[in-house]
Amino acid sequence: DPDTDAGATGESLRTPIVAVLGHVDHGKTTLLDKIRGSAVSEGEAGAITQHIGATAVPLETVSNMAGSLVDPTDFDLPGLLFIDTPGHHSFSTLRARGGALADIAVLVVDVNDGFQPQTVEAIDILRRTGTPFIVAANKVDTTPGWNAQEGSPIKQTYEAQSDRARSMLDENLYEVIGNLSDEGFSADLYWRVQNFQKNIGVVPLSAITGEGIPDLLAVLMGLSQRYMKEEMAVDISGPGKGTVLEVKEEKGFGATLDVVLYDGTVREGDTVVVGGTNEPIVTEVRALLQPRPNAEIRTEKRFDKVDSVAAAAGVKIAAPDLDEAMAGAPVRVVRGRERDAVVEEVRKELAQIEVDTEEE
Ligand code: GDP
Repeated sequence: DPDTDAGATGESLRTPIVAVLGHVDHGKTTLLDKIRGSAVSEGEAGAITQHIGATAVPLETVSNMAGSLVDPTDFDLPGLLFIDTPGHHSFSTLRARGGALADIAVLVVDVNDGFQPQTVEAIDILRRTGTPFIVAANKVDTTPGWNAQEGSPIKQTYEAQSDRARSMLDENLYEVIGNLSDEGFSADLYWRVQNFQKNIGVVPLSAITGEGIPDLLAVLMGLSQRYMKEEMAVDISGPGKGTVLEVKEEKGFGATLDVVLYDGTVREGDTVVVGGTNEPIVTEVRALLQPRPNAEIRTEKRFDKVDSVAAAAGVKIAAPDLDEAMAGAPVRVVRGRERDAVVEEVRKELAQIEVDTEEE
């Protein structure tokens, strides 16, 4: 029976979902662009996959970018999926099964600027949703007298600095560690952290020169592999579960959903239930869309159609009747289950999200 996927089930390890947050101008966009850019300049076809609302970096590319810091044979998780959180506020509503949509987060802090109001807000959200996180202490290259080491691990870059530059950076880093302590988190430079479940690791880096990015990737992979392997074991071929990042009008498609899929598979033709402003919406997937590589703004066709998408991934879902769908709402593929039971599941999850957001 193709509808229940009999014989095609089985556990696999999905990609951990990584969110990047922080105060405005502290470097979220630059960091994501740098990771995408270096992945592309690794020169391999398919080095990264650009998704709707997300970027997938496979293990091999992570390992190439991280050099000696990531030995791919140490890992069996497939890589990392970075989500582009649309706005700061919406991150707080990006839930999955009552928890956070992201499995792990990177909190970006400008080392010169330290903690700012949105840094504290982001920390509150991470605390409330129980999301493990690390801190990217960004813009180390702005330290006076800095001797930049393009793309190198932070240890190497440290060794290349004058005593004066090094101690100025250290001073800023200890301030960030102090800020974290004021927020109730015990933190330290990541190479001194023994237990990442008890202590927050701080990774000094520059989103412009790329120094420290190998360390960031190594820590993200290491944490995921060590602490999240069980959560990553999902039935990738089962009915898809996701969260709506955004509801967007698209020419020729009407209202569409930008979704991050965190479990299972969604296919063209699937019946799906989506949270709406009044009632859950039951509809059928007309098309699954991914951005075209190097899509030009002026070309008519900005998307490629795909037959199916497996977790974890970002995808645009085109379907009828999506006008009242909501950002932050759950999306469930019905396949092989009672439709009403799935509607009830979505209704319950929506009610929970409303309670949580009212508490804010
Ligand atoms: P966002 O608002 O957090 O997404 O911040 P952006 O990525 O837009 O960065 C804000 C500004 O800081 C931009 O002008 C960036 O070029 C600059 N910037 C970001 N990261 C770095 C860095 O590591 N070093 C330096 N020198 N500038 C940076």
